[in-house]
Amino acid sequence: MALSPINRLYEQLSGLVEGKLWVRVLFGLFLGIGVGGLLGPSAEVVSPDVARMLTSWLALPGDLFIRMVQMIMIPLVVASIIQGIAGQGDRDQVARLGARVGLYFIATTVGSIVIGLAAALLLRPGRGASLSVVATSPATPASPTRAADVPALISGLLPTNPLASVLAGEMLSIVIFAIIVGAALVSMARERAEPVLSLMFSVQEICMTVTKWAMKLAPYAVFGLMARSISASGLAVIASLGLYILTVLASLAVIMAINAVLIGTLTSIKVRRFFHASKDALLLAFSTASSAAVMPLTMKTAEDKLKVPSEITRFVVPVGTILNMNGTAAYQAVATVFLAQVYGLNLTIPTLALILVTTVAASIGTPSAPGAGIIILASVLTSVGIPPDGISVILGVDHLLGMCRTSVNVAADLVACALFMGKKERTEGEAGETGATPEVASVG
Ligand code: ASP
Repeated sequence: MALSPINRLYEQLSGLVEGKLWVRVLFGLFLGIGVGGLLGPSAEVVSPDVARMLTSWLALPGDLFIRMVQMIMIPLVVASIIQGIAGQGDRDQVARLGARVGLYFIATTVGSIVIGLAAALLLRPGRGASLSVVATSPATPASPTRAADVPALISGLLPTNPLASVLAGEMLSIVIFAIIVGAALVSMARERAEPVLSLMFSVQEICMTVTKWAMKLAPYAVFGLMARSISASGLAVIASLGLYILTVLASLAVIMAINAVLIGTLTSIKVRRFFHASKDALLLAFSTASSAAVMPLTMKTAEDKLKVPSEITRFVVPVGTILNMNGTAAYQAVATVFLAQVYGLNLTIPTLALILVTTVAASIGTPSAPGAGIIILASVLTSVGIPPDGISVILGVDHLLGMCRTSVNVAADLVACALFMGKKERTEGEAGETGATPEVASVG
């Protein structure tokens, strides 16, 4: 029996999306934008109350998805870092990898901030913005962190009670704790370390299994989250901050281009293959605006598709997810300069240096959660004397920018994995590049 056109279309579409997470996510994304636009204030299809009620239901799978992944975030980070370190073989190797990764993350963070500062100084996104749209508190002189406070800030990173850090969700302290435990395990006799390592292995398996379940929700999650955020902010806000949005996007594009050059020149993975292999993770980062939510997929992408050895991915991905936020760093730099321009603050070289230093700390301290970057931005603004309520100016478009910067954050972790892969593994990686890995593809 011949199929009706609508059934044929349905069959073609389901064939297209079958097994391809990124297609389904993209589908959810565009459908979400459409529905969000229809439910938004300018379309006047439904009243704002009805729109709020409808979008809160539509976003339910998204909220469940994010909570489910966040639920396993801490055990996964701890288990992965401990395994990653213990897999290094000896303490010297751990110290070498740790130092190289740490330096690389700091260098790329500084580089990203410089790109953000340069873009904002060049394009001057704040020049057209009128003060009537900003909060009215005046700018105050900068009050940088005093040098005497720094030692306490540093020692405060070492948790006195790791369980309290877990309860408070202090990811930086948790990472430091996991690194210390991993380093201790690698220094012990193997048979003494084995029980904890096998426990960590099981914990990691549990987390990955839960992630696989959560991923089934991903396309619906993306659809609902998009519908909610588009219907809440509306397209008019996006248009009024056009130049600011453009400046953030331009800096993110430059970072991505540099990443592509790094992949093309320093690894034997072809740039096109790198992005092809990474697209599920990058799209999911874009849709969820949370690198934590994508972390298990980032790890699987690096291991299965880019063929990076697990000793590297299990260390680089969790540490990178929490500490290495190139997109967030560039965004925070642009937002600070933008607001400084809006408030008419004079950006001297010492002020720019202060922005650089505080943004390094701020981006490292930004939790990998949706919209976290703008919350931590307040600390950078305060340190240079911009009233934190200036944030209200850029809040309306933050979700959109959060989605973009999260993709860059995740891409940076994958690039780091590829760069830290050894020569031998790189050759294997090249051989394995061509095949999509069934495991990741089947996650959705
Ligand atoms: N959402 C970002 C992330 O998870 C952090 C940010 O808001 O900048 O990577």
